[in-house]
Amino acid sequence: MSRISDLADQFKVTKGKDFRLKDWDPADTAGIKDKEHAEELLAQGVKRLAELQDRLYADNTWSLLLIFQAMDAAGKDGTIKHVMSGVNPQGCQVYSFKSPSAEELDHDFLWRTTKCLPERGRIGIFNRSYYEEVLVVKVHPEYLVKQSMPSPLIGKDVWDNRYASIAEFEQHLARNGTKVCKFFLNVSKEEQKQRFLKRLDDPERNWKFSTSDVAERQHWDAYQDAYQDLIRATATKQAPWHVVPADHKWFTRLVVAQAIIAALESLDLKYPTVSSAQKAGLAEARKMLDGEKPAKR
Ligand code: ATP
Ligand code: MG
Repeated sequence: MSRISDLADQFKVTKGKDFRLKDWDPADTAGIKDKEHAEELLAQGVKRLAELQDRLYADNTWSLLLIFQAMDAAGKDGTIKHVMSGVNPQGCQVYSFKSPSAEELDHDFLWRTTKCLPERGRIGIFNRSYYEEVLVVKVHPEYLVKQSMPSPLIGKDVWDNRYASIAEFEQHLARNGTKVCKFFLNVSKEEQKQRFLKRLDDPERNWKFSTSDVAERQHWDAYQDAYQDLIRATATKQAPWHVVPADHKWFTRLVVAQAIIAALESLDLKYPTVSSAQKAGLAEARKMLDGEKPAKR
């Protein structure tokens, strides 16, 4: 690895056409062997992120949408928690998308996430997202039936249509000032098994385990194919995917932090400048405060 600031670039996919998931090693650490060193770098990254978020908020024109997708136990929650630990909660919104409600199923598939997009100046985090619509729904087509779409619209091109809708939607966001940054936390099948076993063995981790996690694991290959297909169809310069190695949590967190830093740095964020009229107003305010009589006790 050359410079820490370039770390995330190694895992960034901006053109999906020839993307093959098999070429990406879930255990990669880009030559970094020392976990403690990585944790120091992460701590520095968290500080830098806090500065940049403050500027994003003050600048109040751009917004940043971070999308996290992964197989169970890949570390989405822990990554969000650690990477965003220094950020002012007022400038950041996290949404977790689970199985859709009846009301959500009654709308087009982008509706529920659109309502949660970040305002200008904010960071929005989607823990799962509209990509579930071409993942779990593709692996389990019976979920598509529940969506009550008109039958002429659910032919074999339904997935290609969804990829196109997503890609166009993300272009639309980019054109209107939302920077979109997507993360696939790429965990190996073996590491997922070890993490499941840990959750079963440790009573304090039992709550993190759901029997449906093991059921979904049976569809591992179908999910990997679905991830490959969606990355091929939706990785663009404006809305890149990061295929983040996820077998070592310390490395996952470092890559994600650096990717967010790079995304914010690319925006050239500035604190608003004060005009001469505003400066005169500030001088006037000072005069008034200085001229106040001392308060009576
Ligand atoms: P954790 O297990 O760490 O709490 P999680 O994101 O896995 O986090 P769960 O409640 O276990 O949360 O799972 C949410 C489930 O909702 C996932 O299995 C996901 O595939 C499913 N889901 C999300 N969006 C959709 C959708 N549009 N249609 C059907 N299922 C969905
Ligand atoms: Mg889960």
